[in-house]
Amino acid sequence: MSGVADRLQAAQDLVTRFQSSVLPHFIDGRPTPGISGATFKSVSPIDNSTIGSVYAGNADDIDIACKAAANAFDEWKAISGRERRQILHDVADAIEARATEIALIESWDSGQPIKFMSKAAIRGAENFRFFADMSPGARDGLSLPAEQHVNFTQRQPIGPIGVITPWNTPFMLSTWKIAPALAAGCTVVHKPAEWSPYTAMLLAEIAHEAGLPPGVLNCVQGLGEQAGKMLTEHPAIKAVAFVGESLTGSRIMKQGADTLKRVHFELGGKNPVIVFADADIERALDAVVFMIYSMNGERCTSSSRLLIQESIERRFIDRLVERVSQIKVGNPLDPDTEVGPLIHRRHREKVCSYFEYANRDGAAIVAGGSPIKGPGNYVQPTVIAHASNRMRIAQQEIFGPVLTVIPFEYEDEAVQIANDTEYGLAGYIWTSDVGRAHRVAQGLDVGMVWVNSENNRHLSSPFGGMKASGIGRDGGDYSFEFYMETKNICVALDKHRISRLGGGS
Ligand code: NAD
Repeated sequence: MSGVADRLQAAQDLVTRFQSSVLPHFIDGRPTPGISGATFKSVSPIDNSTIGSVYAGNADDIDIACKAAANAFDEWKAISGRERRQILHDVADAIEARATEIALIESWDSGQPIKFMSKAAIRGAENFRFFADMSPGARDGLSLPAEQHVNFTQRQPIGPIGVITPWNTPFMLSTWKIAPALAAGCTVVHKPAEWSPYTAMLLAEIAHEAGLPPGVLNCVQGLGEQAGKMLTEHPAIKAVAFVGESLTGSRIMKQGADTLKRVHFELGGKNPVIVFADADIERALDAVVFMIYSMNGERCTSSSRLLIQESIERRFIDRLVERVSQIKVGNPLDPDTEVGPLIHRRHREKVCSYFEYANRDGAAIVAGGSPIKGPGNYVQPTVIAHASNRMRIAQQEIFGPVLTVIPFEYEDEAVQIANDTEYGLAGYIWTSDVGRAHRVAQGLDVGMVWVNSENNRHLSSPFGGMKASGIGRDGGDYSFEFYMETKNICVALDKHRISRLGGGS
């Protein structure tokens, strides 16, 4: 496929199936209409045209999906790890076979550039493959011998899981949660974001066509305060894996309190990238530009605060502005596009409101700073310089292609500024001094640090945040810690008498 016209046509052909009928839920192995018949419209951020209507799930839809997941649990839990591994590999193969379709629909639906969504679709398959291979060993525990007993631990899947996902890179993000949950032997009810509902339906469809038994993965479309809330409150759901805003995480914690839900949260971030004067400036520049403007800046690990050492501030900002002016903003289906439209009109308004805050708070917009006229939700890639860390543009998650630049003089000061936020997801350090790299990495209150690197995800490594950025870690065995219960079994070695209560004959 070559030009944007071809891709538009291909995407158009693919979404035709969704335009002719209301997007259903997927429950117990089949597409299922909403019980109440209520729907909401889904629009494309490219031009705000309607893609189609989607069933708005309610308590009844959630209830049948949760019951389907609960009914399927015993059987899915009981199949051998080897069989589960094979099914999940088949799912990965099926995702790969439809990766182009997934990427095109994802771009159309979310506005994220096809050049990134093509990779994200393949990454979704990799997530399944990785956890498929871990599945046979998921239950293995430790043997802990004591003097007269042997203790050993085993893990078992916790039960049906509620997975709630956001609209940024929706397909790939949902596989981060769903693949390890299924590999652990859990069943899932997925509630995708209402602003990007389509690829969740594709995932459920693909997984079942690849051989996943009915009820093991269910998908209920709907609004957060309705379907999402009901899912977090349903008694059959044992744990909630949530990716989204910190405020929503806090709400989910309250909603799940009555049924004592275990929660895993991947939340917002205001991640610092610290560039010292001794850094490899060209590589640092590449990384700074990539980590805030790729995927429209709608990325939890985006480096949205640039902390720049004063001695190179002016030179670095000049180069940055030059680079930002060359970023290609356009239709996300164009393979050359680097920044596409933001997910929704309302989100664009939110992002643009920070241009006003920047001006009022005394920072300087040195690149971009305006919405782009037209039918889509486009915004100019923006650099805001001469900011202080107390400004709203430095404290609040903007979640768009907007970089806030804050100068610092000393290493300690950089760490202090980096930590002066409610968030603690990720941090990036650019320096050629190894000792400094280690000192700063140790000083940052974040879940993940990258040194002289852009965000590079290794699936065995722990992924997650501190403070308001999250609870728990994803990746490798860390994921199984969440989706499984650990059971200790203690066996006596000898036949020693157990001390008796009372002295009766
Ligand atoms: P959001 O919190 O508004 O919505 C996320 C999901 O939660 C949606 O499916 C929504 O319908 C649902 N929801 C909303 N209210 C709910 C409620 N009361 N009960 C249950 N579900 C509810 O987030 P968003 O705007 O879709 O996504 C952007 C946010 O996600 C950003 O803050 C971003 O940083 C965060 N994010 C974090 C990570 C990470 O790994 N830390 C990854 C991606 C995105």
